[in-house]
Amino acid sequence: MNYSGIKYTDMINGEGIRVSLFVSGCSHYCKDCFNSDTWDPNYGSLFTEETENDILNYFKKYDKSIKGLSLLGGDPTYISNIDPLVSFIKKFKNLFPEKDIWIWSGFTWEAIIESPKLLSLIELCDILVDGKFRIEEKDLNLKWRGSKNQRIINIKKSLELKETIKYID
Ligand code: SF4
Repeated sequence: MNYSGIKYTDMINGEGIRVSLFVSGCSHYCKDCFNSDTWDPNYGSLFTEETENDILNYFKKYDKSIKGLSLLGGDPTYISNIDPLVSFIKKFKNLFPEKDIWIWSGFTWEAIIESPKLLSLIELCDILVDGKFRIEEKDLNLKWRGSKNQRIINIKKSLELKETIKYID
């Protein structure tokens, strides 16, 4: 898996102060995508054990001030990103069980719950921002997403209650 960047002390992508990892690879090709360079899974740098440790060490150092981890792209649910992220999240949750994980996906919640592979990653996270960016529904006033079709979903509650539960509208 490659990544295009890591934003430490990110206050834009999710609630509170976060560390955001932007992975490469996306199969959704949304019109007017803000980040089309990252469609290529080979874009950016290789996500190595050293990269993982950089992130984990940052959390250790600033434990109290950081609310959680955000996974963006590209698309974290791009097929070749799933296993490396599952492995990384397991390490992360083991060390920081109280931190929350937000994830963005070009797939909808309905598509994700039909796919065991996608679900293997999503079920480890807390909040999902779902769906493709649709230029026709673009709204600059929206928090944490670019277009109105995208939803901010409480993953644990949605799985527990077997219905789509939004975290906020
Ligand atoms: S899912 Fe995100 S990264 Fe992929 S094409 Fe759409 S806006 Fe771009």
